[in-house]
Amino acid sequence: MKFLLFFTLIFFGMNSHLLAKDSPIAIAIHGGAGTILKKNLTPEIEAQYHAKLEESLRAGYQILESGGSSIDAIQATIIVLENSPLFNAGKGAVFTHHKTNELDASIMEGKTLNAGAISGVTRVKNPILLAAKVMTESKHVMLSGEGAETFAKQQQLEFVAPEYFHTPRRLKQIDNLLTKEKNARIEAPTNPNFKYGTVGAVALDKHGNLAAGTSTGGMTNKKFGRIGDSPIIGAGTYADNKACAISATGHGEYFIRAAVAHDICARVLYQGVSLQAAADAVIFDKLKNMGGDGGIVGMSPQGDPVFSFNTPGMYRGYIDKSGSVFTGIYGPK
Ligand code: ASP
Repeated sequence: MKFLLFFTLIFFGMNSHLLAKDSPIAIAIHGGAGTILKKNLTPEIEAQYHAKLEESLRAGYQILESGGSSIDAIQATIIVLENSPLFNAGKGAVFTHHKTNELDASIMEGKTLNAGAISGVTRVKNPILLAAKVMTESKHVMLSGEGAETFAKQQQLEFVAPEYFHTPRRLKQIDNLLTKEKNARIEAPTNPNFKYGTVGAVALDKHGNLAAGTSTGGMTNKKFGRIGDSPIIGAGTYADNKACAISATGHGEYFIRAAVAHDICARVLYQGVSLQAAADAVIFDKLKNMGGDGGIVGMSPQGDPVFSFNTPGMYRGYIDKSGSVFTGIYGPK
């Protein structure tokens, strides 16, 4: 009898992972919030956005389906968006005042609260990969500029010529803005209509772990090494398995001051409100009262995607835990 009990315990001990139920998987993304109006987008351009959003969702979802981590899914998803000229991240990033592209990114793991971020890089093809390397291969959380690029070389990440990031659309935007600035003889530091297109992702993997990541070129016409919220852990990106995963997009100065991503998770954790209620309180009340525009994509520990944005539109999408695919551009929600 004792013998039987011994073998039963060994059997179940060895196979406990077979008995543990997998967590649901889900992924959600944004591709920037702003004055995105139907009248300004042709059906062809709309279709391009929908297709690219879905392609990026599927890249991450595939990893989640095969048992991969939410951190790996976030990177695979964001790479697709960084490589697309449609978004203000990687190729297609907005121009600075000096007609260069300076890229920021961050990533965070909800299980460990580990995080990595980079700011002001100009030659690393996929900034999100560098942010992830900072998280896993360095003792630091954030690296900037040349130092970040030296670290990227050590990590053998792909480099490109700065011109790789240039696109005619973004060049036209900065040229128009600089001409206006010159004619009006006033400083036009940023233009809210031109700054949007930041990308971000949140995901829940089979192991029940949340992650979030964000990547951006920042705001058109930025100068003085300006950094927005996207690479700031707690502002543009946050993930905590106990609360939620958030990636934000919008006018970074306000998002930093409102600690948007962390505040939403803190409300879930300490007030016990739903993720949607927490996100709406921050985006529609706190942020709006301060004068800040933008939105977030969020994921709950149960795998429910959430969007909240106080702008006319936000490029966005999800594949939820039932496998349904959604992509959207205009508001509300
Ligand atoms: N949050 C970004 C920044 O301020 C811009 C954006 O999301 O559109 O740099």
